[in-house]
Amino acid sequence: MAVESRGRKIVYGPVPSRRLGRSLGIDLIPYKTCSFDCIYCQLGPTPKTTIRRRAYTLPEEVVSAVRGRLEKGTHADFLTLSGSGEPTLELNLGEILRALRREFSQRIAVLTNSSLLHMKSVREALSSAHVVLPSLDGWKEDTFQKVNRPHPSVSLEKVLLGLKKLRGEFKGEIWLEVLLVEGINDDPRDIPLLLAVLQDIAPDRIQINTVTRPPSLAWVRPPKRERLEEFAAALGPKAEIVASFKAGSERIVTSELERRLVETVSRRPLCAEDVASIFGMEISMADSLLGRLAREKGWMAVKVEEKTYYRPRGESA
Ligand code: SF4
Repeated sequence: MAVESRGRKIVYGPVPSRRLGRSLGIDLIPYKTCSFDCIYCQLGPTPKTTIRRRAYTLPEEVVSAVRGRLEKGTHADFLTLSGSGEPTLELNLGEILRALRREFSQRIAVLTNSSLLHMKSVREALSSAHVVLPSLDGWKEDTFQKVNRPHPSVSLEKVLLGLKKLRGEFKGEIWLEVLLVEGINDDPRDIPLLLAVLQDIAPDRIQINTVTRPPSLAWVRPPKRERLEEFAAALGPKAEIVASFKAGSERIVTSELERRLVETVSRRPLCAEDVASIFGMEISMADSLLGRLAREKGWMAVKVEEKTYYRPRGESA
């Protein structure tokens, strides 16, 4: 079967995750291959939304990349499928999850934007995960469209139907993420609507998040902490706030972030781990961003032990 993983890094971390402990990230999908174009996306705009599922990565490649990392003594609580695109667009998802369960003892989590959960094949593929973390950012069609800017074929109705069906079939835990954006989906008068849709989804946990990293659109802002608390209180004991404004990290808009990265790389080599720690991003996101800038700017990649550093061409080592 033709796959497109050649040259892409599949495994990241492990990184400490508020939601998943020490999480070894697995990125199956090419950069910004997604069915959504969320206004808050820290990876920047989606060039073209898609709902076409394709074979991007082979199960044996994933197993070998994870094994390679764990054999070095790396400790991970979770193997987490997330990264720089929507994992359910991977056609081999079911096989990959089954292989991970067979080969490793860690719990397996999948982050998804919920857009394809209405498809039986996607729900069947997810059945081997221990935890599915779907997101729901809109409980009215217009708000959903404003926040997630989905592929034209994806509607809120389909997303809710998929989440409801997942609840009926999935034996593991569902931790639903609700991400609030100031002035877009944080109106407390809409909480009764959200409560109504949550009745059908019946998640095991509700994780309230907000914009804590440079968003796709510069004007996108997090609501005040009190608003997050208001939602958490109204949604009941399963709800918790997971947004953390990391001490020492910086919040800047994507264009400014890129400008700063270009400027820094002109002075000293940078790796994804540096960028993640300075700007409070996940390593997989930082790696994707650096990779894209390297392609655009013609930087060279230099491997030092486990890390890939980028620097302008023409500089001596
Ligand atoms: S936040 Fe996730 S779902 Fe939204 S555009 Fe970015 S990668 Fe896609």
